[in-house]
Amino acid sequence: MAVEGIVIVGGGLAGATAAKTLRGEGFTGPVTLIAEESHHPYLRPPLSKDYLLGKAGDETLPVVPEGWYRENGVELRRGTPAAEIDAEARSVTLRDGTRLEYASLLLATGARPRTLPVPGSGLGGVSTFRTLGDSRRLRKSLSAGGLNVVMIGSGWIGMELAAAASAYGNTVTLLGLEEVPLAAAIGPELGGFFRSLHESKGIGFRLPASAAEITGHAGRVTGVVTNSGEILPADVVVVAVGVVPEVSLAEAAGITLQNGILTDASLRTSVPGIFAAGDVANALHPFTGQHHRSEHWSNALNAGKVAARSMLGQDAALDTVPYFYTDQFDVSMEYSGFPSLVSGPPTIRGSLAAREFLAFWQHDGKVVAGMSVNWPRSDKPQKVIKALIASRSTVPPEVLADPAVPLDQLLPAA
Ligand SMILES: Cc1cc2nc3c(=O)[nH]c(=O)nc-3n(C[C@H](O)[C@H](O)[C@H](O)COP(=O)(O)OP(=O)(O)OC[C@H]3O[C@@H](n4cnc5c(N)ncnc54)[C@H](O)[C@@H]3O)c2cc1C
Repeated sequence: MAVEGIVIVGGGLAGATAAKTLRGEGFTGPVTLIAEESHHPYLRPPLSKDYLLGKAGDETLPVVPEGWYRENGVELRRGTPAAEIDAEARSVTLRDGTRLEYASLLLATGARPRTLPVPGSGLGGVSTFRTLGDSRRLRKSLSAGGLNVVMIGSGWIGMELAAAASAYGNTVTLLGLEEVPLAAAIGPELGGFFRSLHESKGIGFRLPASAAEITGHAGRVTGVVTNSGEILPADVVVVAVGVVPEVSLAEAAGITLQNGILTDASLRTSVPGIFAAGDVANALHPFTGQHHRSEHWSNALNAGKVAARSMLGQDAALDTVPYFYTDQFDVSMEYSGFPSLVSGPPTIRGSLAAREFLAFWQHDGKVVAGMSVNWPRSDKPQKVIKALIASRSTVPPEVLADPAVPLDQLLPAA
C-alpha cells in the first residue's frame, strides 16, 4: 500500500490514547490526530467534579503532556474538524480543505450533549455541559454562591453538577424524567441512596418532571416552568439530558450505524480500514455476545488501546469488564459490570446509612455487576468484582452479603 499513515479523527481520550498506544507499540509511520476543539486532548471526568469545584487545576486535565505529540512525531491538528471521508480513496478532508490519505482511519468522535427543544433554551445562563469551556464558564458563575440553579436531567452528570453547585452555596433544584434519579443505571434502591445524599445537602428534586418552558428577561434566564406548571426561579440552568453519539462523518461515509458506529470486538467498522472507539462506538463484547456502547472514561481508554493495536494488525479485542466511577459530595462510587445482564435488585454488604457498602447484582446466581461506595481501597473491591464477573462463578447472596467472608474469598480457588 502506498500510504502507510494512520489518521485519527477526534482529540478526546480515545483518540489521544490510540495515538499514544501506536507509538508505544513501536509504530514509526505517520500519525495525524484531528481535533475539532482548540485544546490539547483532555480528560472530561474532572470537569463536573474537582475541576468545577476549583480543587483541581488545568495541569490535571491533559491525556498526555502537551509536549508529547511533538516529541513523538504525532501531528496534532487542533481546531480543525474533519469534514468528509472518502472511503474508496482512503482519504479524509478537513474543513480547511486539507486532504489526508490513510492506510487506517480511527473515528473517535465521541458524543454531543442532547439539547432541549423547549422555548427559552437559547437564553443566557442556559447551557449544556461537555467541554472544558463549559466547565470554566459554569465555575465562574457558580463560585460566588447565592444563585438559584436548576439542573435538568437526573443522570450522572446532572447529579454531579447539582452536587458541585450546591457545594458552592447555591440553591439547587433538579428535574428529571425518572421517578428516582439514576434508576435506569443502578436501580431504584441505589438511585434512592443518591437522592437521599443530595437531599441531606439541601438539593430539591422534582421527579418525574420535565421543563415545559424556560423564562427570561432581557435575554437572560429567570426561571423554569415545569410540566405541572410550577415556576422554579433560576439564574443558571444546566441541561444534562444525555448525549448522542457523533456519527455524522461515519453516516455520510456509509458506515453501518446502530446506536453509534457498529463495530466488532476488534473495533473494526463495516468499512475496511476504518475503526471506531470510545463513546461513538457500539462494540461487540466477547463476554456477553452483545453490542455495548459505553459513555465512560475507562471504555474510551481501553478502546483507544485496542483500536491502535487492531490498526497495527494485532489480534486485539475490547474484552475488559466495563467500569466507571462518580464522586458526589463525600461519596466515591465505583461500578464494574454489565447493566444489560442485571435482572433483579442487588445484594448489599455494609450499610447504606453509613454510606459505606458494596452492591452485587446477579443473574442466574452469577455476579454480573458490582458497586463499591466509600469501601476501603485496601480490600481492592473493584478488582474482586471484576474477577468475580469474569469467572462466571455462582455465589450465594448470603455469602456476598456476609461481612465475615473476606472479599477475596468470594473468588473461586485458582
Ligand atoms: C462532564 C463529564 C464528566 C464525566 N465523568 C465521568 C466519570 O466520572 N466517570 C466516567 O467513567 N466517565 C465520565 N465521563 C465520560 C467520559 O469522559 C467519556 O466517556 C469520554 O470522554 C469519551 O471519550 P471519547 O474520546 O470517546 O469522546 P470525547 O471525549 O467526546 O472526544 C471526542 C472528541 O472528538 C471531537 N470531534 C467530534 N467530531 C469531530 C470531527 N469531525 N473532527 C474532529 N474532531 C471531532 C470532539 O470535539 C471531541 O473533542 C464524563 C463525561 C463528561 C462530559
